Amino acid sequence: MATLRPSVACPAKPTVKTEALHAVNMESIVLFGPPGAGKGTQAQRIMQSTGLPQVSTGDMLRASVAAGTETGMKAKKFMDAGQLVPDDVIIALIRDRIQDADASNGVMFDGFPRTIPQAEALAGITNVSHVIAIEVPDEKIVERICGRYTCGNCGAVYHDTFNPTKTEGTCNSCGSSDFKRRADDNADTVMSRLSAYHEQTSPLADWYDSKGIFHRIDGDRAIDEISTDILIALE
Ligand code: ADP
Ligand code: ADP
Ligand code: ZN
Repeated sequence: MATLRPSVACPAKPTVKTEALHAVNMESIVLFGPPGAGKGTQAQRIMQSTGLPQVSTGDMLRASVAAGTETGMKAKKFMDAGQLVPDDVIIALIRDRIQDADASNGVMFDGFPRTIPQAEALAGITNVSHVIAIEVPDEKIVERICGRYTCGNCGAVYHDTFNPTKTEGTCNSCGSSDFKRRADDNADTVMSRLSAYHEQTSPLADWYDSKGIFHRIDGDRAIDEISTDILIALE
């Protein structure tokens, strides 16, 4: 005997939710803030939750310098002096990167855009759904930058005092004992980088604020508290 189906209507399919998630996935996030604010640290933590790959123009430029490419040769003198690399170089780098397969659902930009022309170029390349501004006072920046080191194998970011490895000399994430410090992470260059931030990058805050996608996060707190607030802002 055939089993009668219950005459209860099927629950409505969650089409709205699926579409909304799809739309969010197609958009990119910008992590914004002064040098040493914790953009890279937070990008590594929230990457899994967002599913978006981290795109750091600083990391890309350092790789270009190390590989001796034309881009690297153009960028090096600006980086060594703590000045911004010209917009055309940066925009060309991003245009290329955004073509990669892993960028098709959007990315998490770390340290880009840093000027209004870069932000205008970005607007023509991908939709930005959220700009997360990690705010840290200038007086805290020098000690953050001067104590920074990274794992040479996996890129995990550490600090001599504020975020050391659990076991001295061993990366928490991958176990490597190969650590690096950046040539530009010194007290002199930090002052130039901070001036460049205030003069050329901070005007972007109003630019994005006027679009209603700018979220300020207090970055002068424990790393975990900041990650929690970023994930709330992204919901
Ligand atoms: P930080 O982690 O201290 O914010 P980055 O690694 O992002 O520094 O950048 C290092 C250097 O690379 C900058 O001082 C600048 O010379 C150059 N750079 C990185 N991103 C950009 C950008 N979007 N526009 C111009 N220059 C950039
Ligand atoms: P950015 O990418 O913005 O230049 P990083 O993520 O590289 O900044 O962080 C700069 C330094 O500050 C690193 O040594 C990092 O371990 C440390 N750091 C990051 N977040 C915090 C925090 N909330 N409190 C104290 N130190 C931090
Ligand atoms: Zn590592």
